[in-house]
Amino acid sequence: MKVFRTRLAFQNWRKSLKINQTIGFVPTMGALHEGHISLVRRAEKENDLVVVSIFVNPTQFGPKEDFKKYPRREKEDLQLLRDSGVDAVFLPRSVHEVYGFGAETKVIARPSLTTMLEGRFRPGHFDGVVTVVLKLFQIAQSHRAYFGEKDYQQLQVIKAMASDFFLDLKVVACPTQREASGLARSSRNQYLSKEARDRAGFIYQTLNRVKSTSEAARALKKKGFKVQYLEDWDLDLSSQKTKGLRRRLFAGFFNGVRLIDNIQKK
Ligand code: AMP
Repeated sequence: MKVFRTRLAFQNWRKSLKINQTIGFVPTMGALHEGHISLVRRAEKENDLVVVSIFVNPTQFGPKEDFKKYPRREKEDLQLLRDSGVDAVFLPRSVHEVYGFGAETKVIARPSLTTMLEGRFRPGHFDGVVTVVLKLFQIAQSHRAYFGEKDYQQLQVIKAMASDFFLDLKVVACPTQREASGLARSSRNQYLSKEARDRAGFIYQTLNRVKSTSEAARALKKKGFKVQYLEDWDLDLSSQKTKGLRRRLFAGFFNGVRLIDNIQKK
């Protein structure tokens, strides 16, 4: 497995590949778990080569968020990727490798997809996401890029960016991987004790079991969850929807840790 610490070294390798070799790209922020590896496996099935990036992107964190303490576990991550058969990892040694010096151009995510849900609680977050994802897409030059449904709104925002900029790549959505309790796997779960993680499985159970969003929010609050939003939307997040095929999305705090999840409802 090749590991590139600079953009130029990665790009030189990328240019050396044969024109007909297909590339699957999996962008991550590291602290890798089974969720990330499921994206890698899917990419391996559908492409000749798989590239993973590990970059904790400062511009998608708010001033009071956990950028500084976000888990960084390079050695373990690289071992996991090696064991998973990944071909190349882009692990920039500094923010400048991705942002350049004095590069101030930013992408604004589609407002119709970002003024609600996560966007209400994390202003500017999706602008940071689409800006870094476009940069990484330009560097990786992949045929396909793999994203998890765990971050459902992010997935829609990235699909919209790819379409709005006529990007010549396919954005592939992959199902959410969960712990045995039902808790969606996340790098941030390690902020919780094992016992708290088991109790946080109540989010998934409640989203599934309870009929109305208000009732589900009430049930979660009773068990000590601080609910930020719990809403039903149509699948492309263009409007809220209370019946039929729809997506139920949740964000909230448990034991001081912010958790998000979503499921499909019928
Ligand atoms: P992150 O490292 O949190 O930025 O996530 C990198 C990619 O992995 C994103 O596309 C996430 O949606 C995806 N991902 C994170 N957790 C999961 C999960 N539990 N199941 C599936 N995909 C996930």
